[in-house]
This record gives sequence, structure tokens and C-alpha cells, in this order.
Amino acid sequence: MPPQGQTTTSSWVLYENDATSEDKSVTQVPPSAEDRKWIIVWRNVILMAVLHIGGLYGAYLFLTKAMWTTCFFAVFLYICSGLGITAGAHRLWAHKSYKARLPLRILLTLFNTIAFQDSVIDWARDHRMHHKYSETDADPHNATRGFFFSHVGWLLVRKHPEIKNKGHTIDMSDLWADPVLRFQKKNYLLLMPLCCFVLPTMIPTLWGESLWNAYFVCALFRYTYVLNVTWLVNSAAHKWGDKPYDKDINPVETRPVSLVVLGEGFHNYHHTFPWDYKTAELGHYSLNLSKLFIDTMSLLGMAYDLKTVSRDVIEKRVKRTGDGSHYLWGWDDKDVPAADKDGAVIINPDKTE
Ligand SMILES: [Zn+2]
Ligand SMILES: [Zn+2]
Repeated sequence: MPPQGQTTTSSWVLYENDATSEDKSVTQVPPSAEDRKWIIVWRNVILMAVLHIGGLYGAYLFLTKAMWTTCFFAVFLYICSGLGITAGAHRLWAHKSYKARLPLRILLTLFNTIAFQDSVIDWARDHRMHHKYSETDADPHNATRGFFFSHVGWLLVRKHPEIKNKGHTIDMSDLWADPVLRFQKKNYLLLMPLCCFVLPTMIPTLWGESLWNAYFVCALFRYTYVLNVTWLVNSAAHKWGDKPYDKDINPVETRPVSLVVLGEGFHNYHHTFPWDYKTAELGHYSLNLSKLFIDTMSLLGMAYDLKTVSRDVIEKRVKRTGDGSHYLWGWDDKDVPAADKDGAVIINPDKTE
């Protein structure tokens, strides 16, 4: 366990290249944005390419050859591992938007290990960097470097030196204090292969599925799928959509992303109010399965101290910094007097001379 406040900058530990002495000399001079170097880590590129080819083949087997029980199990693993990221690493641990009793923390750590997106402590550290230094070189998946970089490219190149320079500013002592998370981190190289690949391949043989189908469908396809939908929050949800809460930041509201990543696509709201356990203002269950999960756990007494934002605070923020697209306090609000709308100036770039 490192001393309080100490952080490492390793991410996706199995993929990451080790820091070299060459790195250290680079970090001595804080670079400007123009100095960005795309030092490709070919080992990561090859691993990611092979994984995605296997994942695509698994998708083919999922659609054509696998038993329906195997397909059902793959979807079940997608939901569980997804919750391990959204309700676990993200809402519980990175943002502390609610508290969880020991059995729930163990369950979410198991789910998180099935997802193989590195240990909770490493994931949460990267995510806290993402919020604190959003859209700068110290943001691990800085969306200003383009869709591809923020989606997967950041895992294929050497980290920007600013991530190392600013890493020490992120306090992770709260998560290091949790014995469940310390156990996961310490035993990750044993637990991760077991939870993400070995058990998902073995379990379907109980109902007669072949090892081949089980491996490609429940391990590779399911894993690759969950990776990509998670990455959409960093890429698409920082690019295409409305900004009802804060028009001056890049994150947007996107329902399609919310649907596939269990409620994490309300990203303009989330970056404006990151401590809300719903990560959304409304959070209908169909688009926010993670909220349904946390609410259910709360009913069972496993989750408590759920934090959210008052309607009054949201309304003030929408009116002060929103882009006018809010369903209630935006342009379509039925309560806005017609006279006010008559006085509105509408700028249409296509029609300006
Ligand atoms: Zn974000
Ligand atoms: Zn977040």
C-alpha cells in the first residue's frame, strides 16, 4: 500500500508499457499541447487488434452458432461487468456518490474484475484525473485529441507526460483504505484472468456448450463489447449531443450511449454534478440500469447515503449556463411566455449573409 496521496500512473496494467529513463527526461520539461508525441506502443496495438478480431468472431458465433443459454449468459455477464464499472468503479468509488456495505462492495468488486478494465483503484485514479483535468493533457483520454484517441487511442500510445506530472495531485487514500479494493489490486493478475476469461469459458460447458463457443462468445465478444460501450462515454459522450446544463464544457447528453452503457450517457449533467449517484437528472430505469441497481440495493439496505442534486440547484444552473436545450427550462418549456419568445433572436449560420 503506497503512502497517502501517492499515485501511480499505470493504467490498464497488462497493456501498459513500463516507464523508461527516457520518459523521466521528457517529464522534466512540462510540454505544451504542440509538443504532444504519439509514441505508439506496438504491443498494445497488436493485443488490441487480436482481441477485436476474436471479439468479432465471437459476435458471429453469438448470432449464428452458440446455444441460446450461452447467449443469455453472455448478456448476463455484460450487465454484471457493466455494473462493476458504472455502479462500482465510477459512481461508488471514483465519485463516492453513495456508500455501500461490505457484501455490496464485494459483489461490485467481483463484477468489476469480470470487466477487466484494470483494478478499481487504478480505474478510479484515471477517472478522477479525467474530471479534475478534463480536456487537457493531464486527462488520460483527453477528448480534444479526437474521437479515436479518446475512445481507444489513449491505450495504444505512451501516456502524455502531464499525466505523470499531475498524478500526485489526486488523493486515492480513501480507496486504499478499503481492504476489499486492496485485495483486488494485490491479486489482480490472478483474479482478473479467472473472472474475465476462465470462468466465463468454463461455466457454459455445464449446459453442454463447447469450450470454443463459450470462449469466443462469453469471454472475448462480451469483453470487447463492454470495453467499447464504456469507451463511448469518453468519445461519443464528449462529442455529439446537447448541453442543457453547461454549454461551456465538451461532455454532452446522449441517450443511445446511456442505453448501452447502463445510464452513463447523460454526460453533460454528470460533468456538471459529478456527485449525483444517478449521473443523470431524470434517470428513467430503461436508460439507467445502474440507477435501478443502486435503488434496489438501497431498498435492501446495502446502499446508503445516496447523493443527488436538488431541483432548485439544477434549475438555477440550467438557466445560468445551459445551452437552452433543457426539456423544462429550455426553448420548448410551455411555461415560457410567448411574448418572451417573440423577442428572441435566432441565429442561423446557414442563412446569414
Ligand atoms: Zn467525461
Ligand atoms: Zn465520472
